[in-house]
Amino acid sequence: MNKFIIIGGGIVGLSVGKTLLEKYPNAKITLLEKESELASHQTGNNSGVIHSGIYYTPGSYKAEFAKAGSKSMREFCLQNNVKHDICGKVIVATSEAELPNLQALYKRGLDNGLPVTLLEEAELKEKEPHVNAIKGIHVPTAGIVDYKDVSLKLGELIVQKGGEIHLNQEVKTIHEHDDGVVVDTNETTFHGDCLINCAGLQSDRIAKMAGYEIDMKIFPFRGEYFYLKEDKHHLVNNLIYPVPNPDFPFLGVHFTRMMNGNVDVGPNAVPGFKREAYNKLSFNMKDFFEIITYPGFWKMGMANYKEGMEEVVRSFSKKLFVKNAQQLIPEIRENDLIVAPAGVRAQALKKDGSLVDDFFIINGKNSVHVCNAPSPAATAALEIGKEIVENIVKVKENVSV
Ligand SMILES: Cc1cc2nc3c(=O)[nH]c(=O)nc-3n(C[C@H](O)[C@H](O)[C@H](O)COP(=O)(O)OP(=O)(O)OC[C@H]3O[C@@H](n4cnc5c(N)ncnc54)[C@H](O)[C@@H]3O)c2cc1C
Repeated sequence: MNKFIIIGGGIVGLSVGKTLLEKYPNAKITLLEKESELASHQTGNNSGVIHSGIYYTPGSYKAEFAKAGSKSMREFCLQNNVKHDICGKVIVATSEAELPNLQALYKRGLDNGLPVTLLEEAELKEKEPHVNAIKGIHVPTAGIVDYKDVSLKLGELIVQKGGEIHLNQEVKTIHEHDDGVVVDTNETTFHGDCLINCAGLQSDRIAKMAGYEIDMKIFPFRGEYFYLKEDKHHLVNNLIYPVPNPDFPFLGVHFTRMMNGNVDVGPNAVPGFKREAYNKLSFNMKDFFEIITYPGFWKMGMANYKEGMEEVVRSFSKKLFVKNAQQLIPEIRENDLIVAPAGVRAQALKKDGSLVDDFFIINGKNSVHVCNAPSPAATAALEIGKEIVENIVKVKENVSV
């Protein structure tokens, strides 16, 4: 076996390509991406944070891969001259009511083996003078990077090592046979020994094309941002996060200093009716129909009706968004914020209405499918790549390249 076809030119697919070529230098790698550029979806439209791993259940893939991934991402950036900054972050409680969850998060950080410290109000003010908080956690291993830069570098390395990247190739059908896979795109046909599905927002559809019915569907959650106006950048030194709602996989609207010098405020998490919907009102009949006929959508909706509606209303009201942001930095005013481009998260939703919390990868006959790789998958991408290559070894015990 020496021909691998990777679907998806986001950071996960690119990391798989790089890792495969490191392990099997003679392998033939073909990466197919439907857009005209790499990193056009989640990877190129995110917060750019190198997460430390504080939030995730100890022992989960997310916890392990974020911790190891933040280290490997930093090493990759150092080795390849990708600009990044391990600036650290604070997670802050703004009221007494948030203290138990802050304390639980601190304990989780320690359980995950992270060098976190609790900060009192005065210590917090030294790090972030404009923040309104009574207590916080300092996470020194968190940082920032532009994941598009990381992806372009990964792409460069793949091509240097003899791999092929084909842009504008949308995979339309897949036939998996006993001895390999045949993949048809909008333009041509590719033959391989093994397929790796890293299609993000389309990963469940690609798995289905290859003949795998999984008890989950990708549900899109749009994350909307505002930029802080330049004359207000002094309000934020690095990264300021609220205490998250432990019932949801999202971190709450936060302030992020970006590598390009901007300060982003967001993202929220608005349930969407289109998978690649970067505007509030974009709509796609196929996506919409698929969502409303999926029992998991209604079950999730009924269980989280109040939170879902609040997100939708806040999405249409800048006033409410600003009110939320003011909980962390009271000095922010409505005209300090300028609308910025949104991102869309690919979050797997099960038929019973529960969100799949951890990364989720399945092995097929001659294929591996990354079915759930939400945040912190950009941070963890290099570790996910290694895990997938291990899975390929399990799928094809006779890898011989
Ligand atoms: C708003 C937001 C904020 C986030 N913030 C962070 C953060 O700060 N830190 C962090 O670690 N993570 C963050 N994440 C998560 C992170 O961005 C994703 O987990 C990660 O980028 C997933 O990478 P991917 O390669 O799996 O998916 P993607 O980047 O979405 O790539 C999938 C690719 O597959 C291609 N594709 C799909 N279907 C086909 C087809 N039929 N044929 C060919 N190609 C196809 C798509 O065009 C796409 O390029 C955030 C995500 C969002 C949306």
